[in-house]
Amino acid sequence: MSTLPFCCNFARGDTKALLSFINSNCYFTSPMPSILTPFARPVYIMTKPVGALCNLACTYCYYTEKSKLYPDISRHVMSDELLEKFVREYIEMQTQPEVLFTWHGGETLMRPLSFYRRVVELQRKYAAGHRIDNAIQTNGTLLTEEWCKFFKEEGWLVGISLDGPQEFHDEYRRSKSGKPSFRQVMTGVNLLNRFEVEWNALAVVNDYNADYPLEFYHFFKDIGCHYIQFTPVVERYYSHPDGRQLASPMEGTEERLAEFSVTPEQWGDFLCTLFDEWVRQDVGEYYIQLFDSTLANWMNVAPGVCTLAETCGHAAVMEFNGDVYSCDHFVFPEYKLGNIHHQTLLEMMYSDRQKQFGAGKLKQLPTQCRNCAYLFACHGECPRNRFMTTADGEPGLNYLCTGYRKFFEHVAPYMDFMKHQLKHEQAPARVMDWIRRGMPAYE
Ligand code: SF4
Ligand code: SF4
Repeated sequence: MSTLPFCCNFARGDTKALLSFINSNCYFTSPMPSILTPFARPVYIMTKPVGALCNLACTYCYYTEKSKLYPDISRHVMSDELLEKFVREYIEMQTQPEVLFTWHGGETLMRPLSFYRRVVELQRKYAAGHRIDNAIQTNGTLLTEEWCKFFKEEGWLVGISLDGPQEFHDEYRRSKSGKPSFRQVMTGVNLLNRFEVEWNALAVVNDYNADYPLEFYHFFKDIGCHYIQFTPVVERYYSHPDGRQLASPMEGTEERLAEFSVTPEQWGDFLCTLFDEWVRQDVGEYYIQLFDSTLANWMNVAPGVCTLAETCGHAAVMEFNGDVYSCDHFVFPEYKLGNIHHQTLLEMMYSDRQKQFGAGKLKQLPTQCRNCAYLFACHGECPRNRFMTTADGEPGLNYLCTGYRKFFEHVAPYMDFMKHQLKHEQAPARVMDWIRRGMPAYE
């Protein structure tokens, strides 16, 4: 796997590789295409080897309460039989030479290392000429030298959930007994760096940290993290008889917004401030997934992040017991596609239900979005956040709409310039020089 970021190639003026990607209409500026832009793959199923089990209890976690969907199962761990069935079927259903496995939690490292060694063994057994990539998401607190050696040896990409500096991170990311987790996570990050494991950061933007985008960003730069995904947290409460407290997209109202949710204004300001620093000094050095995806949409190329894609439905999730749901953010009974013991992955992923789920993102757009000048960049964002009504009273408007619109308006001149550069086989990183020269007119 190439580890050289495409955006770094831009900085050196080498756009060949990027342009060939654009021409083949597959990916955009991703440094690690199959891993950072999995959504562009034809079929992609995230896997939960320990279900929702976790050693932390982060306040805003949308997944912890999913264990309540399985009150009759005492051990929420994937069996060896199921693992083998999944690995075999998942590889067999892929039509491209590379196959990406993504291990997600809960806390994935609550399975022993022997489980993941078995994963690798099975992947080799069933690879049949495919190139296998693995990405694992973890809170980082359980990382040891042994884990890092394994990730390094096997070339796994590790995603670390890290919400910036200690004060931000510890506000919501705590253990069940309320103990902060920042120090443990940083011990893990240092180990990853020591063992030269490839890793990136997944940072949640919430009500507490959203007003400090530069402190956030500088922290990641200081610790040498070049690949960052900033994700806005938006949840609403809704009491279910089984004890779950978070609303599905079909349930609840905007009045019951969770207090940790970012506001649309905060999100817009966060993105604009972050972008202003990135576009002036960091293009080609730091990869911020949302900016890359925005540029992809400006180029009319599939973006790396599903939320900004026109349709969805390519990326499902499989629970520890083989239940498959339409998307990791739609693990609700009404979005269950079936179980791998009863249907094949292929049947579930190509079912009418999943097709409708994917197409619904476009079909259910309200008129305000259809008439929006930035529809090509936004696509109404993720359906899970479409619980508002438009000024005309039409349902289905995205809660974050005003924030996104502000961001797209703000970045438009820079995106136009970078698009122009790419079309002329020049590096988008030239935008930094263009700004220094006072943004002169270009043909
Ligand atoms: S529902 Fe949202 S998170 Fe899920 S695939 Fe679609 S855009 Fe992505
Ligand atoms: S910016 Fe707002 S109106 Fe425009 S497409 Fe996005 S959600 Fe819809």
